[in-house]
Amino acid sequence: MKRFIIAFIIILFLSLIFSVLYLMLSVNKLDNRIDTLTQVIRDMRSEKQNISGTSENTDFDDEAVRAAQAAEEYNRTAEENLANAEDTLKVYLTFDDGPSGNSDRILDILDDYNVKATFFVNGRTDDHSMAVYKRIVDEGHTIAMHSYTHKYSEIYKNLENFTADLEKIQNLIYEATGVESTIYRFPGGSSNGVSSTDMSVFIQFLNEHGIKYFDWNVASGDATNLPYTSSDLIENVMSDVVKYKTSVVLMHDADNKMATVEALPELIELLQEQGALILPISEDTTLIQHVTIQ
Ligand code: ZN
Repeated sequence: MKRFIIAFIIILFLSLIFSVLYLMLSVNKLDNRIDTLTQVIRDMRSEKQNISGTSENTDFDDEAVRAAQAAEEYNRTAEENLANAEDTLKVYLTFDDGPSGNSDRILDILDDYNVKATFFVNGRTDDHSMAVYKRIVDEGHTIAMHSYTHKYSEIYKNLENFTADLEKIQNLIYEATGVESTIYRFPGGSSNGVSSTDMSVFIQFLNEHGIKYFDWNVASGDATNLPYTSSDLIENVMSDVVKYKTSVVLMHDADNKMATVEALPELIELLQEQGALILPISEDTTLIQHVTIQ
């Protein structure tokens, strides 16, 4: 009996040791798996950044997220902008975030169709960018401001930063073109939701200084980082512009937005077939603003 108990204890002891060893091995395996998965996630993240093709220091990607939603919200409340059958549709094609390697292609296409558009530009001082600013103006388009840096954390930190940035882009445009731009588009729109300062502070400043800001009520879909095709873009724009008297169409002049360039000729043709007037934004353009203050 005694032997039996001793044998039992030994077996119990051994099985405990084996269990502990087995558990240690499992933990080690799991640890390795976690390491591999972490690496995979890291790779996926950096790949995503490469696809988006923008530098880490700007917020071009972030403004994409709410572009379509912001347009929808605006249109829900802007009943006075709903088109009747007899209305001539006014369409304002707007290109944000340039100059880029695609600016000249966009300008060539607009020139082919003799159509004028609006370019909401950022601050770049290289020779090509300076030439693009000038070409925009020389060919009769509207040059407008979209901040110098496009960095939310800087521009929207306080009114002082905002006005310094505004002055910088206004001066650069003046230097390149001789035009004192008085038209602005907030990076991310007036409804951006990321500004650390209440947007009404900046809106009030622009209003007091005779600078008109424009958001958009038609999102072409090219703000997204998801793959979009030129036919998606055409479909997005055409399905919306028929509904409104005034359509301010959000598009982008950026290196990685090739489909926007590809879509442009057909888009212009379809808009013209629809009888729409394609116009550059001016002082008299009906304001399309997501957020306003009294
Ligand atoms: Zn932008």
